Amino acid sequence: MSVFLSERFSSLTPYVPGEQPQDKKYIKLNTNESPFPPAPNAIDAVSRAVERLALYPDPEQKALTEKTAALCGVGFENVLMTNGSDEALDFAFTAFCDTNSPALFADITYGFYKVYAEWKHVPFTEIPLNDDFTLSVDDYIGKKGAVFIANPNAPTGLLLPVSEIERLLRADASRLVVVDEAYIDFGGETVIPLIKEYCNLLVIRTFSKSRSMAGARLGFAVGCKALIDDLKQIKYSSNPFNVNALTAAAGIASLENDSYNAENCRTICENREYTIRELRKTGFFVTDSKTNFVFAKKPNVSGKYIYETLKQNGILVRRFDTPRIDDYVRITVGTKEQMKTLISEIKKITEAQNA
Ligand code: PMP
Repeated sequence: MSVFLSERFSSLTPYVPGEQPQDKKYIKLNTNESPFPPAPNAIDAVSRAVERLALYPDPEQKALTEKTAALCGVGFENVLMTNGSDEALDFAFTAFCDTNSPALFADITYGFYKVYAEWKHVPFTEIPLNDDFTLSVDDYIGKKGAVFIANPNAPTGLLLPVSEIERLLRADASRLVVVDEAYIDFGGETVIPLIKEYCNLLVIRTFSKSRSMAGARLGFAVGCKALIDDLKQIKYSSNPFNVNALTAAAGIASLENDSYNAENCRTICENREYTIRELRKTGFFVTDSKTNFVFAKKPNVSGKYIYETLKQNGILVRRFDTPRIDDYVRITVGTKEQMKTLISEIKKITEAQNA
């Protein structure tokens, strides 16, 4: 730390991204990336866009925003494209939270919510999930603050029904509810249609998972015009060209080839169900994930041991040194081949334990 760092940030605990090792080739099941490449026409579109790289991108991202809005069944004015959904979350914390407007989120959820709250000096409360990791909307009703909910939740994988989110929205129309739907395309039902009725709802989505574009950094926010205008205030005050030209070209092409992405999601869901079944057969407890990852633990075997043994054998998964979940591993769902290898390595671990 230099002597120049502002005191405001000296005690900040940054987000720790999942490992992106460059040393050896792993079966990489640790950061919820897609095992499939982006839509083939996205690759062509990027090559063509390279020719125009001398120019700044469209700050409004008109073509991309129009296509995204059409996909969501909302208007152009209801969508803001961002540099990954992390940036949409960043804008939301900046625009809507401060000392008078704290943030509420679950104790076990996407780790970035706490990081954003801390670096923006937003008071926050972490509300414990139930013992089975389900979220009770009643725990939020009557408490002051903007609510951030990942749905389905990460890393638990559990989905909250639309009716429960609507109950939360209806309970207090003056309180903002941000629903982070990073994993919604793997079996969940989106709350986007509710933005027409509830101006206190902001939905955040990403191209990183179901559209195989994590490296491109593309996300978006959907809400009533007033909320989106607020986010634009932040965007145009910090990073007007937040979505670069190559990413925009890939995004448009990806939206034009939605059946390719939908087919990949179907395959990932099938592979997820296979993985859950096989893990349960070997005695693992596995949550009912509706995402592209599974969250699992083996009674009497530490999560650290499973993580380390898999890593030694060339498979990278994720674990968190966090109370309540330190014995779990979060395993991204890859190809069927990758999941078969994972299961065979897991079987070796459990057989060694039983020997
Ligand atoms: N929300 C959740 C719940 C996530 O797990 C992630 C990715 N790890 C993100 C948002 C951010 O995704 P991205 O910035 O790649 O769109």
